Amino acid sequence: MRKFPKPRVFASRCLGLAKCRYNGVTIKNSVVNALGEHVEFVTVCPEVEIGLGVPREPIKIVSKAGKRKLVQPATGLDVSGKMEEFSEGYLGKLGEVDGFILKGRSPSCGLFDVKEYSGVERGTSRGKNFSGFFGKKVMGMCPNTPWEDEGRLLNGEIRGCFFKKIFTLARFREMKQKRKMKDLAEFHEKHKLLLLAFGQEGMGKLGGVAANRKKLGFEEAAKEYEMEMRRLFRNGICKKSAANSLMHAFGYFKKGLGREEKKFFLQTLEEYMNGKVLISAPRSLIWSWVLRFDEEYLREQVFFEPYPKELVMAENRVYMG
Ligand code: SF4
Repeated sequence: MRKFPKPRVFASRCLGLAKCRYNGVTIKNSVVNALGEHVEFVTVCPEVEIGLGVPREPIKIVSKAGKRKLVQPATGLDVSGKMEEFSEGYLGKLGEVDGFILKGRSPSCGLFDVKEYSGVERGTSRGKNFSGFFGKKVMGMCPNTPWEDEGRLLNGEIRGCFFKKIFTLARFREMKQKRKMKDLAEFHEKHKLLLLAFGQEGMGKLGGVAANRKKLGFEEAAKEYEMEMRRLFRNGICKKSAANSLMHAFGYFKKGLGREEKKFFLQTLEEYMNGKVLISAPRSLIWSWVLRFDEEYLREQVFFEPYPKELVMAENRVYMG
């Protein structure tokens, strides 16, 4: 059974981790809850940190003449400066994290779907495709760390992709601490199919760094490798690339399989490409052949078990109850 290091994940504190919302409640979040014992959470509530207290009057973003302000209409307070200062200071000292899960629609933590207003009064909404003050700093200061909105993580494919990224980055962090060239080579070997699923070009660059590792030395090679991998993780898993990984694995069994088995696999792959089944369907077929033919190279590939089984189960559902 594969062992999984714990990813270090930032989560907005109100996502089931404390009663810190403006009205003194917490929000039950099934993804944060499921990740529970599998990750090390780092958490903060920016609004509490800037002294707004719990409970508090709600705040909103008001944008006039191109200037955005974070204001508390009930008191007339403008907390923009405080929030900017807190966010920069906090993120600057946060250290390495493998991912962020941020509360959606929040004028502080939201990433993509926050409302902006042209005035503090009701009925002055300018739309809802904006970022919150803290969320915007996360995107700006940590562009190569996977970040997701809690709402988007309810989608099985987006969630599966996010889990793959955070557990891979955690494995890399663990590998880095050992500072051994052979571990870097082994990391690359075992992650080939998984990384290929994020894009062939990026995977090619990683292969180049791994091949050049002796010339670069461990520190430099690990730094370059991590930079390329984080860049690659700015992509989601594209179906074409994932199908490429699956076809690559399928190639190992061409001689051993019967015509009907091959046909069934290719049909399942097509169903995956057409959105009728999740990647777990063709991947499980390949895995059954890995076991049947005792294919050692593929058995070691993280692609087949990128994160703990309990979380893989959840990938098959669109919503986690
Ligand atoms: S969304 Fe962010 S600022 Fe708002 S309550 Fe949650 S953690 Fe605090």
